[in-house]
Amino acid sequence: MSQTSAALGRIQPSATLAMSARVNALKAEGVDVIGLSAGEPDFDTPDFVKEAGIAAIRNNLTRYTDVDGTADLKDAVAFKFKRDNGLVYKRSQISVNSGGKHTLFNALVATVDTGDEVIIPAPYWVSYPDIVNFAGGTPVFIEAPASQGYKITAAQLEAAITPRTKWVILNSPSNPSGAAYSASELKELGEVLLRNPHVLVMTDDMYEHVWYAPTPFATIAQVCPDLYDRTLTVNGCSKAFSMTGWRIGFAGGPEWMIKAMGKLQSQSTSNPCSISQAAAVAALTGEQDFLVERNAAFQKRRDMVVSMLNDAPGLNCPVPEGAFYVYPDASGVIGKTTPKGQLIDSDETLIGYFLDEAKVAAVHGAAFGLSPAFRISYATSEEVLAKACTRIQEACAALK
Ligand code: PLP
Repeated sequence: MSQTSAALGRIQPSATLAMSARVNALKAEGVDVIGLSAGEPDFDTPDFVKEAGIAAIRNNLTRYTDVDGTADLKDAVAFKFKRDNGLVYKRSQISVNSGGKHTLFNALVATVDTGDEVIIPAPYWVSYPDIVNFAGGTPVFIEAPASQGYKITAAQLEAAITPRTKWVILNSPSNPSGAAYSASELKELGEVLLRNPHVLVMTDDMYEHVWYAPTPFATIAQVCPDLYDRTLTVNGCSKAFSMTGWRIGFAGGPEWMIKAMGKLQSQSTSNPCSISQAAAVAALTGEQDFLVERNAAFQKRRDMVVSMLNDAPGLNCPVPEGAFYVYPDASGVIGKTTPKGQLIDSDETLIGYFLDEAKVAAVHGAAFGLSPAFRISYATSEEVLAKACTRIQEACAALK
């Protein structure tokens, strides 16, 4: 009999975190490796947010808070949803958790039963299928290849829905592809969902503020108000405010769901860190101007990385409209051979070759459910990115 649970046996360790650990081990050995596998902005938490955290400690906001968030932070989240998305949520419709991953985990584990299906467009963020599997549900994937701009169509969504569908998960801009749905594309998906009233809608808007598209960011409950009562709008502080270590995620949704998430949280983590909650109030309600500057920096890097990767023989890198990732299609290098005679038979072999020979760490597409491709995070300096892309170009050129 296994010592660990059946539920644990249904999940894999995160492939992105595993690659980051590999990079750190190589760096510790003195290898000049460039790590482009981590999904984390390289900017610092803004000073006014740090100061709010320091003030919280000084003011002794260091005790337990209400399980799913302080009243102050719930009000700040409500303010954010109204200001940015035109969505109105009461305190009782808001849950605050220890990071966006925790928000998604609570929502899925609190609602998914054995046999329930959860529709996940691929490529997907690595944790969605694992959390669904952990909960006992069945992930149902819809492939959104580069030729579709890494976005699903309404017809694909319609075909994937069954009587057992519990949720559909949308993530725009996407990790790993950076693809972003416009309001009209969301509306088309929404029309399918309106015809299927048994389906809950989870929208992971973590990268809302890392946005380059000419049209404004849109989220599904905003463009399809009739879906509001069954949509969980998930967001957080990690990416927009460079607060990955502070661990604050949140969601707005129907009261019954928010209550269920709170019940689970009351028997697991209890409240998110009280100090981080106070800092998050400042982040959400304070000046947002710094986002414009950071976006401009990300966009410049994106343009350089896309152009350099498209110059690498065999790679085809679509232009992402948000987030800080590119997801080049690697079909053109599969079947080639390395100078040492190794056949590149998968994207996993390809990123192994990049790591061993070019000393660049990326994450293979299979981890995100769509191959052959790989993900690069461009949340690092232009200088480092230029060096990494040159190494990738050379590595691709050396394939025969
Ligand atoms: N959702 C997506 C699409 C992400 O990429 C991430 C982090 O990488 C998260 C959620 C989770 O963010 P957090 O660090 O707040 O748990």
